[in-house]
Amino acid sequence: PATGSANIGVVGLAVMGSNLARNLASREGNTVAVFNRSPERTHTLTSEHPEAGFVPSEGYDEFVASLAKPRTAIIMVQAGKGTDAVISELVQRFEPGDIIVDGGNANFHDTIRREKEISSTGIHFVGMGVSGGEEGALNGPSLMPGGTAQSYETLGPILQTIAAVAPDGEPCVTHVGTDGAGHFVKMVHNGIEYADMQLIAEAYDLIRQGTGKTPAEIADVFAEWNTGELESYLIEITAEVLRQTDAATGLPLVDVILDEAGAKGTGAWTVQNALDLGVPTSGIAEAVFARSLSSKRAQREAAADLPGPAEAWKVADGDADAFIEDVRRALYASKIIAYSQGFDEIVAGAEQFGWDVHKGDIAKIWRAGCIIRARFLNRIAEAYADDPSLVALVVAPYFRDAVAGAQDSWRRVVAIAAQAGIPTPAFSSSLAYYDGLRAERLPAALIQGQRDFFGAHTYKRVDRPGVFHTLWSGDR
Ligand code: NAP
Repeated sequence: PATGSANIGVVGLAVMGSNLARNLASREGNTVAVFNRSPERTHTLTSEHPEAGFVPSEGYDEFVASLAKPRTAIIMVQAGKGTDAVISELVQRFEPGDIIVDGGNANFHDTIRREKEISSTGIHFVGMGVSGGEEGALNGPSLMPGGTAQSYETLGPILQTIAAVAPDGEPCVTHVGTDGAGHFVKMVHNGIEYADMQLIAEAYDLIRQGTGKTPAEIADVFAEWNTGELESYLIEITAEVLRQTDAATGLPLVDVILDEAGAKGTGAWTVQNALDLGVPTSGIAEAVFARSLSSKRAQREAAADLPGPAEAWKVADGDADAFIEDVRRALYASKIIAYSQGFDEIVAGAEQFGWDVHKGDIAKIWRAGCIIRARFLNRIAEAYADDPSLVALVVAPYFRDAVAGAQDSWRRVVAIAAQAGIPTPAFSSSLAYYDGLRAERLPAALIQGQRDFFGAHTYKRVDRPGVFHTLWSGDR
């Protein structure tokens, strides 16, 4: 290929890399160099898409030579060892000022490590979260780049052309913060996605068991919800999934799909880091655990005959619409909690790792392209714009009102679920979190007493400063 003819390159041409490369090539002014370890993928991509004008290479030397300086390459390979292997090849050939972008689903701790290792060479390393799956990569993903501010000067304008566009015309990309900030925020995005999906699944289960509606009828409910404050990609696709019939059996497809939810690990990372940071992201944690429980086939079978409520539960005739409205409100309130918790984790991460993350901008770049895109993200952006030092999303005026309007429904739904024996871990834990947050006094005082009793851990008093220890009767 012609030396220095491409302004950007993509390494790794499986589904994500191919689509991102095609997206880049479709934008005015871009010439895209492409390279994949096994050349077959490169051949397939270039022969299927001659219109893209790709500059293909079969080796790293050739690939690096095809890039104009300062060189910019986006890596889209299997996260982990694959990423390290490609980075080491590029670092050997790149020069100070060149930019290596990792667009894979890297753990942000790896990104911090890689950035540290690479920065001494003068090469910029950018960990970039990419959300929206294959469709997003092709037509416009939500992009969460970290790395140096300097690298964003080169990268930003290119990324702005390929990112999804929010309803107000803004591209869904921002410089999230330095080193691992982008991958951290992408991780939390995925955690919120887990919570959102679990909440929707619980809403479906409640409506199905409570009203006896068919999946197709419940699809209509979700389609209706998608015209209001719950409007989002996940609600929209839920309606489509529920409407789908299995070609082989004629049954609703959702009834044919095995009820064991898989996971690739980013939800678990979100919770692990929340634990490290001491941030209660209970909605996300319950969602991750609910998937784990679903996959414990042997335990579920062994427990299948454990007793449940004595009487079967159904919503009374004529009350179905009111019940469904209760579930909708409970879903909205729980969703507000899940996002509030997710943003708390971003704030805590930013503090811990020294990132200048603008919360409102994160809400904005999630408005299109990514899996959790939703109308409601405008409200989050507004809340942070109105009050940049907002301590919790749920106390912002709009969300406070929304939760206040929903709470009676929320309590009814959680109570009914408990009585009916329908598992609603995300609905229930969100409500418990809400009540914990607003409680004037928590039983944590008792826990401090217990800790002081058995471990002399001391406690503080409400009426005077200092640290106290009681000589309990158990002390010798
Ligand atoms: P993938 O299945 O995760 O990875 C396959 C690609 O990695 C192939 O191009 C493969 O090259 C390459 N690769 C693996 N080990 C390598 C090594 N040691 N050296 C060089 N290349 C190596 O592909 P994907 O689904 O397109 O995802 C790419 C990245 O995007 C991943 O990090 C993924 O987590 C992330 N991501 C995926 C999605 C999604 O929806 N799928 C969304 C966001 C982000 P060969 O062809 O030679 O084997």
